Amino acid sequence: MSEFDLIRTYFADIGPARADVALGVGDDCALLSVPAGHALAVSIDTLASGIHFFPDCDPEHLGHKSLAVGLSDLAAMGADPAWSTLALTLPSADEDWVRAFSRGFTRLSQAHGIRLVGGDTTRGPLSVSVQVHGFVPLGAAIRRSGARLGDLVCVSGTLGDAGLALRQMLEGTDVDPALRRRLELPEPRVALGRGLRGIASAMIDLSDGLAGDLGHILRASGVGAELDLMRLPLTPAVANAVRKDADWSLPLSSGDDYELCFCIPRERIEDARRLGVGLGCPVSVVGVISDQPGLRCRQANGDLLNAVRGGFDHFATGA
Ligand SMILES: [Mg+2]
Repeated sequence: MSEFDLIRTYFADIGPARADVALGVGDDCALLSVPAGHALAVSIDTLASGIHFFPDCDPEHLGHKSLAVGLSDLAAMGADPAWSTLALTLPSADEDWVRAFSRGFTRLSQAHGIRLVGGDTTRGPLSVSVQVHGFVPLGAAIRRSGARLGDLVCVSGTLGDAGLALRQMLEGTDVDPALRRRLELPEPRVALGRGLRGIASAMIDLSDGLAGDLGHILRASGVGAELDLMRLPLTPAVANAVRKDADWSLPLSSGDDYELCFCIPRERIEDARRLGVGLGCPVSVVGVISDQPGLRCRQANGDLLNAVRGGFDHFATGA
């Protein structure tokens, strides 16, 4: 199949038709309109074979994940998804692979009302770049820089599941299918992110682990935080792994959670909890913003954690 045939067959009609798309896939440019009173939120991510995913990974899952990571960034700003563009580099024009990739990308596009409006295919080592575009009312985007002293630090869902799946895959042990889904088919928290507009003071999505990603909020906001490790939301599998080696690296510094981490003024915490309950997405308070710079992690015995395997740099050398 030629590039044009591939695009026409598998990429010309992904996601719902939208009134704000005057012209989508098929011309030199797409023609798009941003609604009045809104900012355009834009983010791009590349997933490269052998670095971000295994070369033999299921192409349908890769189609899902390559869009999910972008949707997670839109969620982290409180933006509503609108459009995507896709640059796909393929070693060969393998139609079965492309069909499966397109299926995964399409299903998630439909679920979030996002329309693919353009793209490019090239021959080369397998790599996928997806740019996402979303809308957020002017002044309503939730930035990393808004955390204030006394705000509660919250996370959605559970932490470390994808990291445990990856660890099991690298060790060659049996991979728990539920954990594997968390690694390969993350569900971006778009509705939660949107719902937190006007409630959260700061937000980020968890792509690199809680310690590092929360660290971005702390630096941008000029504050510190103390986490209570006993309050981290963990599935039994991750809790067992943490207990076995007394190693907190899975929930603190393994990547690919694609949950949201956000700060909430104390008086709004019930609003955030109610939102989570309504969406079937647990919201957990895991710590508090302090004026002492850096991140401190309090253990069950009251001592501070000094380091975790493979992820010490993110920790401030808190006194
Ligand atoms: Mg992000």
